[in-house]
Amino acid sequence: GKGVTRRSLTILGATGSIGKSTLDLVERNPDAFEIVALTAQSNVAALADAARRTHARLAVIGDAGLYAQLQAALSGTGTRVAAGPQAVIAAAAEPADCVMAAIVGAAGLEPTFEAARQGRRLALANKECLVSAGDVFMAAVADAGTELLPVDSEHSAALQALAGATPESIERIVLTASGGPFRTWSREQLQGATPEQALRHPNWSMGAKISIDSATLMNKGLELIEAYHLFPVAAEQLATVIHPQSIVHCLVSYTDGSVIAQMSFPDMRTPIALALSWPQRMNAPTPRLDLAAVGTLSFEAPDPVRFPSLTIAREALVRGGTAPAILSAANEIAVEAFLARQIGFLDIARNVADTLEAAEGRGLLAAPDCLADILAADAEGRRLAQSLLGRYV
Ligand code: NAD
Ligand code: MG
Repeated sequence: GKGVTRRSLTILGATGSIGKSTLDLVERNPDAFEIVALTAQSNVAALADAARRTHARLAVIGDAGLYAQLQAALSGTGTRVAAGPQAVIAAAAEPADCVMAAIVGAAGLEPTFEAARQGRRLALANKECLVSAGDVFMAAVADAGTELLPVDSEHSAALQALAGATPESIERIVLTASGGPFRTWSREQLQGATPEQALRHPNWSMGAKISIDSATLMNKGLELIEAYHLFPVAAEQLATVIHPQSIVHCLVSYTDGSVIAQMSFPDMRTPIALALSWPQRMNAPTPRLDLAAVGTLSFEAPDPVRFPSLTIAREALVRGGTAPAILSAANEIAVEAFLARQIGFLDIARNVADTLEAAEGRGLLAAPDCLADILAADAEGRRLAQSLLGRYV
């Protein structure tokens, strides 16, 4: 870390894909960071190992039943240990210059909110938080004066492509999507797609949930909602384009016809590094982009018939209220059911659409005022989605 100020850092979700990439950067730049707290849900061995390597002050396991195991694994190290969901939230509140929020799904809501209330820097990987809680979350960030930096690669790209822009000068923000492993598959083939096939992402190595979201394109739908809350644009100004090479991550077009795109080799350590070091830059050991070796960058329109999730997510954004929270909750249930082989691949989007329709019919989409409203909508969305699963067998 030459030129980078030493920062104290907490990583929520330290054993996941984003958590491990963050730890890799930290360990390669030992002078730049000190670890305040690391959290994980159930992988005691990986958590304890990371805590030992980084001399973390605190290690927290979400599953309360694993407390004794974690304590044994870290005895004699000087790392404090704690367990349970409340301890994960408390870890988010420990004074730190920066919190990396990398818990997956709605489980990240409360800890990420807690981190947002600290008024320091929040590196946000947990996109579900911004999707479910959008306005309420952004209000918490504004109230605390928290510096919010997106970790999602497209939004990290947008942040860079928007540098110096005035809101009036922005015409469109276009998020790219790789198209996932099923980009060229027919609807008939998609009907029989297995979890193993869906988990095999062509360009990115990621956690299971986001890998399935990338296969359905729901990930891009969630990212549209994320972008809506992060940047000063209306829903109609947000678009997506399929770009199978995952080299260009976002394009911002301006009123004068200029388009600024950000490019990098698809490796999450680049956007993570930016979120940690912004407005400076730090070294990230990623493969360097060689356009001559890549050869071709191609782009195509997403197909709404084979990949309806994108439209469903956009409609939830426009509908507002708790629709995005219900969308995200139902999607989590549907993805779990698909991974458990209870429903087919195309049933994921069906389940989400059916859940939103049922929630609308029951008058459950009123605008949320606070985190409690979001958590209630999330619970309701899960219950409804679960109750509808029987339709698809
Ligand atoms: P992952 O499944 O690999 O890791 C999830 C982490 O969250 C693990 O450390 C796990 O222990 C923890 N966790 C899971 N359930 C928990 C619970 N109930 N309570 C507390 N902690 C819990 O996920 P990931 O791929 O690293 O993704 C993390 C977040 O970052 C997601 O919101 C994802 O959408 C977002 N994201 C990921 C990528 C990527 O490349 N992996 C890219 C962009 C955005
Ligand atoms: Mg992304």
